[in-house]
This record gives sequence, structure tokens and C-alpha cells, in this order.
Amino acid sequence: MKAAVLTSLRHMEIIDVPRPSIKNNSDVLLKVEKVGVCGSDVHYYETGRIGPQVVKYPYLVGHECSATVAAVGRGVKKVKEGDQVVVEPAVSCHKCEQCKMGRENTCYNLKFLGTPGEGDGCLREYMIMPEECCLPIHGKITLEQAALCEPFTIGLYSVRRSRLEKNANVAILGSGPIGLSCMVAARALGAREIYVTDKLDYRVDFAKNTGATWAGNPEKEDIVKAILRQQPLGVDIAYECAGEQEALDQAVELLRPGGVLMLVGIPEFDRVSFDFCKMYRKELTVLYVRRQNRCTRLAMQMVSAGKARIDSMITHYFPLEKADDAFELVAGYRDGVIKAMINL
Ligand SMILES: [Zn+2]
Ligand SMILES: [Zn+2]
Repeated sequence: MKAAVLTSLRHMEIIDVPRPSIKNNSDVLLKVEKVGVCGSDVHYYETGRIGPQVVKYPYLVGHECSATVAAVGRGVKKVKEGDQVVVEPAVSCHKCEQCKMGRENTCYNLKFLGTPGEGDGCLREYMIMPEECCLPIHGKITLEQAALCEPFTIGLYSVRRSRLEKNANVAILGSGPIGLSCMVAARALGAREIYVTDKLDYRVDFAKNTGATWAGNPEKEDIVKAILRQQPLGVDIAYECAGEQEALDQAVELLRPGGVLMLVGIPEFDRVSFDFCKMYRKELTVLYVRRQNRCTRLAMQMVSAGKARIDSMITHYFPLEKADDAFELVAGYRDGVIKAMINL
């Protein structure tokens, strides 16, 4: 079978690898259908690492996917051959202290699809996942929507974790797929005014057309002034989804006293700084987001009920053979790309 593997920095090749087979009773053999290209995949593609997670070549990335069940192990009960599924990319141990606390996303023994040192990714025709990671869609959502569920859950989890209350006013800094997912989730969960920023005009326009109250480009105007003109007391929650120092500083300016700063974006450098005086005078709460926890089913329900319209994020399709073109496109923010999807 075919797989698209990273072979060096900015190089991807299509190679032949053996088709995996079922070994454990809980194994499900999946025929991969659609794979979304994530910013983190592109990070591995461009720089070969994210923090301490370093790629050893050849390496298979990809973790946002939908699939069809091709075969199941003897103990599998929840899915059967032919079922279409959302693939939950995190495999947690259910035994460690973090799992026992209900924090599977920070499981000490976590194996995440397409993460160096943890497991191969899904840019291949077939793969094995445990039954618990295969959530059948029962024809209620499309395979494209199913592949978008993973990035959407990050936004949904961020919004739930921020304890957004009905009619809250929020700012979202950075409107790539994760920022837009925060926007869609915040809208669905009752936010009143949503202010979105991005340095790319086409993403500003996209946010305006898909649910933002207002959207602006910080390179073209003073977005802090523009938002505070509309919300003189400041916003209740700011979601920093750009991973940039400048956006962190803007978020602190935008928040009202007692507001919540959500750190969703991953900065290029390990250290960022905060203006201590401003932070403590406003008595802000800062919360980090590590992927997501227990949001996949809710995400699927929201998408199938039409409460979360995420489809329009898909701007480009590529066949597996052209996976490197998809990565180059996303890496260069070219051609108005929001989410590139690879068809298998
Ligand atoms: Zn992702
Ligand atoms: Zn665990």
C-alpha cells in the first residue's frame, strides 16, 4: 500500500509499505479516506520538530482523518466492516493518574497519531487503531466533516475550558483553522460579540463571512483600539490562536479585569513574556490548552445538527500523490488556503 512520508526537511515521498494487519482483539483495520493538513504537520515538514518532539526520517505525519472500517479484531463490538468513522487520534492508557483524573489528553503514556516518538500518522492507505478511537458517523456527517472534527474539537474544547457564558464577548487572535474553530464553537455556545484578527486579509474576510461580529488585520490598523471602541470595558475572554508575542500582548490589552486569557496557539519559541503589571492589575486568569479532551462526540453532534458549520474551511483538495503540494500550499499560506484536505 502507499504512504506519504517525510524524508528530509521539506521533502515528502510516496513509498510502498506493507499493509498493517490486526493483532489485538480490540484492533480495527481502517481504510483512510480524508486527511486534513494541520499546522503541526506542516511544522514537522518545515522544521522537523515541535519542541522536544523531533522527527526521525523517514516519518509519517497526519492526525486529522476519517476512515472506513476494513476489518475488526475478535473483541470489537462498536464498529463493523464498512462503517465510516471519525478517527480520534489520541490513544491514552486509562491507567495512569492523569487518566484516572479524567485528563486523558495529558496521559503519561499517550500515543498520538503522527507524533514523533508516539506513533506514525495517517497519510497512508490503511492503518490500525483501537476500537475506542473509531467513532461511527452513521451517515449523519460527511467524510470531509468527519476529518474536520479533530481540529474543530480543539476550538470546542478551548471554548468549554474557558467557561464561556451566554452573551459573553470574546476576541480571537489568529483565524486559521483553530481560531475559526474557536469562533464557530463560541458562536454555537452562545457568545454575543466575537472579534477576530489575522495578519492575512483573506482570513480576515473569511472570519467576517462565517460568524465574526467584526474582523481586522493588525498590520493595517490598531486592532486593540478598534475592538475597545466597540467594547469599551474590554472582552470577557481572549483566545490567542496565533502563537505570537504581539497577539498575546494584544489579548492582555483587550481583556476586562477578571477576564480569561486562553493560550491556544503554539509559539515558535519556547518562551513568551507577559506584562506582569497589566496582568495582575486586571487579575486575569490564564489557561493553557493541550489539544482537547472528551469533545469528539459533542463535536460530531454539533456538526450533524448544523450548529457548527465547519465545511467551508476546506479550501483545497489533493490526491495522496500530491501530498507535498498540499504541504507547500499550507506552509506558504498560498492561494487563500484555510484547510487543505488529502483524498485517499
Ligand atoms: Zn491538527
Ligand atoms: Zn494514562
